[in-house]
Amino acid sequence: MDLGLRGRVAIVAAASRGLGRAIAQELAQEGAQLVICARGQEPLDAARGEIAASTGAAVHAVAADLSTREGIDRVVSSAQFAFGHVDILVTNAGGPPAGPFESHDWDAWQRAVDLTLRSAVELTRAVLPGMRSRKWGRIINVTSITVKQPVDNLILSNSIRAAVTGFARTLANEVATDGITVNNILPGYTRTERVEQLAQANAKKEGVAPAEILARFEREIPMHRLGEPKEFAALAAFLASERASYITAQSIAVDGGWIKGLV
Ligand code: NAD
Repeated sequence: MDLGLRGRVAIVAAASRGLGRAIAQELAQEGAQLVICARGQEPLDAARGEIAASTGAAVHAVAADLSTREGIDRVVSSAQFAFGHVDILVTNAGGPPAGPFESHDWDAWQRAVDLTLRSAVELTRAVLPGMRSRKWGRIINVTSITVKQPVDNLILSNSIRAAVTGFARTLANEVATDGITVNNILPGYTRTERVEQLAQANAKKEGVAPAEILARFEREIPMHRLGEPKEFAALAAFLASERASYITAQSIAVDGGWIKGLV
């Protein structure tokens, strides 16, 4: 299937590793040109080099902290400078810290809001006028299965991703006649550093080994295995594509069947 992504310009946020990295790889393989970002220059440069070498795509890497205004501006202005416009925006960032209600004071909530909600809102604010004027755009937010079924010990993620979902669902209607789609992809337990960190946090809380927690995650998944970042990225490439032109305002899980709800 030709996804029609050749020559499209995409910003993929938080793409030095994990899900963002896999999305960047997939979009590059389909012929898109990329701006990727993360905080640390070294891992980001390594990701940039590997993606460019394996796909031949033009990839710009920008070290930026997505929880700051300055970081967001740097990413978007680099994309403008390198390619002149942005067709596809993938919002993504590191996950907020695990822990129960009493473990997070308001400063922790504020940091999580800045990282998870503000980065999605402000990246969108920066690219939307161009998408509207060109009558084409794809906004894809990486959220979590927690928006459909909250996960214990993840109160920050459970709460703040709900706000991202409300933002995206509302924006989708506002831009629908401009050829812009807005969708969320909900990762289930996927083999990245984030899932290792969650296993360690839960293991510490319960006084068991992280391997035991990982095994429990796998038992909860009908497929009895973690997802691979590539399996997640395949949906992102499709939603970014020409072929997904009538799919908007959706939250779609890639979770091996983990969410127990009917729809
Ligand atoms: P990861 O920890 O493997 O990768 C996170 C990426 O974000 C890295 O590139 C890191 O450098 C970057 N990053 C972190 N903080 C940043 C900041 N302030 N500014 C810029 N870049 C920053 O995580 P992942 O598994 O790829 O997860 C991506 C998102 O999906 C996270 O929000 C995570 O909570 C969510 N999620 C992941 C899973 C999973 O099982 N992997 C499940 C549900 C939700």
